[in-house]
Amino acid sequence: MAATQTQAGRELLGLFPPGTTRDGSGGLVIGGVSAAELAECHGTPALILDEASIRARARRYADGLAARWPNSRVVFASKAFPCTAVIRLLAEEGIGIDVAGGGELTIALAAGADPAGLVVHGNAKTEEELRLAVEAGAGTVVVDNFDDIDRLEKILAGTAAEQGVLVRLTPGIRPDTHEAVSTGQNGSKFGLPLPQARAAIARLRGSDRLRLDGVHVHVGSQILDLAPFAQAVEAVAELGEFAVYDLGGGLGSRYTYADRPPTVEAYLDAVTDVARRLLPADARIVVEPGRSMVAESGVSLYRVVSVKRGDGHTFVAVDGGMGDNLEVSLYQQRFEAAVADRPTGGGELCRLVGRHCESGDTLSAGVPLADPRVGDLIAVPVTGAYTYALSNNYNGARRPPVVFVRDGAHRAVVRRETYADLMRRDLPSRAPHP
Ligand SMILES: *Cc1c(COP(=O)(O)O)cnc(C)c1O
Repeated sequence: MAATQTQAGRELLGLFPPGTTRDGSGGLVIGGVSAAELAECHGTPALILDEASIRARARRYADGLAARWPNSRVVFASKAFPCTAVIRLLAEEGIGIDVAGGGELTIALAAGADPAGLVVHGNAKTEEELRLAVEAGAGTVVVDNFDDIDRLEKILAGTAAEQGVLVRLTPGIRPDTHEAVSTGQNGSKFGLPLPQARAAIARLRGSDRLRLDGVHVHVGSQILDLAPFAQAVEAVAELGEFAVYDLGGGLGSRYTYADRPPTVEAYLDAVTDVARRLLPADARIVVEPGRSMVAESGVSLYRVVSVKRGDGHTFVAVDGGMGDNLEVSLYQQRFEAAVADRPTGGGELCRLVGRHCESGDTLSAGVPLADPRVGDLIAVPVTGAYTYALSNNYNGARRPPVVFVRDGAHRAVVRRETYADLMRRDLPSRAPHP
């Protein structure tokens, strides 16, 4: 029994950021700071990010790719965590930044990201957004459609400027992931099918303001096998020889004990093996991880508000939910959870639910929690990707703070919303007309 619990404990820690431990009283310690102290200082719900593990991940990607393909670049898909502290940290590690739209562009520039390393995405970039990108000196715009080309040519007409672009291909690949995060299949709204991609390439080769640097492909997110990535390289190779091949992101993260995603190294092996066969040896390879760069570095902390038993279920309701983690409702992502302020291991199977007025507001449909009680601190691991980005004010929820931990120190990098923040955009209404 004791051995099993130790094993379970070790297994559990395996989903938390590397270096997470338990203190003498059994509480979780993340980045050298106890979960209890983090909850005390910053309140709940709170999103904790382990700085060292993000940096380590960035180095694994950048060094791993450079070792296999020296002319290469890793770019962070900022939509996975669009705040300046995260972008600044990754920029410090030499990582470029992907942005989709004027908002992410503004955040990346505010974070001090080098404009030359910006890659501008989007299937509906407005003229205003493209103008912002060109004026900021964004190194690369990814052309998703012919309207992008029309708009860029209009913006650049009469200037001496030249804009580097890539053409995004829809490769006709359907990875084994949730429909909502599959992007490379036939019929996808993203990119151009092969004949149209060829036409866009021909048109760009004749442009005197747009410099065609190469091609782009991105097949989807939370992909847990390597085949679609290899197929994507084969697909872009068919477009011909270019200076740059941007192979997108999409590597899956380990959310549950059962998940076995490929390692970063296995992923890089898979894409560079095919690249060595099919792409020009002097081409530059770009990869754009979002989720797999930050997911495992995040932990959400919640306080238990209610425990309800009966009807064969134990509902453990916490003070957050789909306001701060929309991944479950949007694409049924599965999460594990643990009591964070005392020893755990085993326990009864609970439904960990949020505070919002929807039955779909479930953080975990079945997770073992040891004797859950009101006031317990609950930690949900692997919440570093797409939680902050998709957080919202449903039911008047105030979006939680983001707290960096490192070497026993902690600091909020995004503060919790206040009720005044909630009211800020709501214009005072006059009394109704009689
Ligand atoms: C979302 C996205 C990514 C990152 O995908 P992840 O699954 O988070 O790694 C990369 N490139 C493009 C174009 C994207 O839209």
